[in-house]
Amino acid sequence: MTTHKAHCLMLPYPFQGHINPMLQFAKRLQSKRVKITIALTKFFLKNMKELPTSVSIEAISDGYDDGGRDQAGSFVAYVTRFKEVGSDTLSQLIQKLENCGCPVNCIVYDPFLPWAVEVAKNFELVSAAFFTQNCAVDNIYYHVHKGVIKLTPTKNDEEILIPGFSSTIEASDVPSFVISPEAERILEMLANQFSNLDKVDWVLINSFHELEKEVIDWMSKIYPIKTIGPTIPSIYLDKRLHDDKKYGLSIFKPMTNECLNWLNHQPISSVVYVSFGSITNLETEQMEELAWGLKNSNNNFLWVVRSTEESKLPKNFIEELTIEKGLVVSWCPQLQVLEHESIGCFLTHCGWNSTLEAISLGVPMVAMPQWTDQPTNAKFVKDVWEIGVRAKQDEKGIVRREVIEECIKLVMEEEKGKLIRENAKKWKELARNVVDEGGSSDKNIEEFVSNLVTIS
Ligand code: UDP
Repeated sequence: MTTHKAHCLMLPYPFQGHINPMLQFAKRLQSKRVKITIALTKFFLKNMKELPTSVSIEAISDGYDDGGRDQAGSFVAYVTRFKEVGSDTLSQLIQKLENCGCPVNCIVYDPFLPWAVEVAKNFELVSAAFFTQNCAVDNIYYHVHKGVIKLTPTKNDEEILIPGFSSTIEASDVPSFVISPEAERILEMLANQFSNLDKVDWVLINSFHELEKEVIDWMSKIYPIKTIGPTIPSIYLDKRLHDDKKYGLSIFKPMTNECLNWLNHQPISSVVYVSFGSITNLETEQMEELAWGLKNSNNNFLWVVRSTEESKLPKNFIEELTIEKGLVVSWCPQLQVLEHESIGCFLTHCGWNSTLEAISLGVPMVAMPQWTDQPTNAKFVKDVWEIGVRAKQDEKGIVRREVIEECIKLVMEEEKGKLIRENAKKWKELARNVVDEGGSSDKNIEEFVSNLVTIS
């Protein structure tokens, strides 16, 4: 029988891109003998396609048990109600676990739900904020919170100086909410992640020190920061390990065999993998440009088009696509795809999970950021880590087919892209080292666990 050193209750925000990294972190903690319970909303639980077997899951309520976020109408309405109902149901859960002999020592919460700190304090538990975005993005929202960055519609090429960064960045590189006046309330909520961060015991970030040294060191002077990423299953980082290849909890059903069989028939480094993650929607015009850009690039491609996006594809696109040329699927096992030897580049929206997964698996990128933190991630991919190019939008905000074709060719085959391909391999090595015993993220996790043990 396993004796546990401590018991962590985890509270993710119910988004695919927020749940997955927290679940993987949970698994890391479990491997260090910490008991884990994950609190998920009833609606998300009801809609999950596969239930994990490795962690214990309990339901709480966000106040929208039947319709989830869509029922709320807006992000702001959703998080406001989640605070009211969630605080109570999370407290009841902690009480229930206590009563059945599994007392909780620590709450690891998503800072989109900052009220969890109050719940932790009420029960005298350790609290740890778990940021699913990188430190650069967190730093920008921190400065919005402090009033250093004000929401103003800025010109795209306007330079902004943000403390913690060594040089200015352009307005087009900051998260979209910072510069769109219609997103004022959303930005307020995002800045609110820092509202009670001075009360938490730990600030955990899904990134690694080597990746963002400067800004992590800067923010560490303000908060007890520990970088613990990349949070992908250890088997992808070290082939000697026998871990579960499945990644995270999903409301989507991955087309595992179809994708992997198809990739098995493609030459090494020949395929463009395309995905815009779990929530980003493209305009119909953008979908068309992308479709033609992909076809014209003359490389084979695997494209994830969620079923809600399929109607935006050009007429007869799927019917006319030959199986040798490309495959369109509604969801795939992304890590298994990214690690496949046939993949030559990743055309991505630059969601942070996708970016970190590509870094960890050494896949060079064509960045096509759309909104939220994606432009900032794309900026780092291109200019700081130099592991990709950014496909430029025209004045209408659309990336044209010629640009897409050109970017793919550069990253996949041209001499100009050689440095990018080499850098991608270099970062893969570094990502592996940090989670290995004694690596920066592994040491931080060890420290977090030993501290929990001392307290409990
Ligand atoms: N993902 C997946 N299969 C797909 C597309 C995406 O498993 O077909 C996963 C991907 O590996 C990542 C997550 O979904 O972990 C998307 O998170 P990300 O932060 O990249 O984007 P978001 O969905 O939050 O915009």
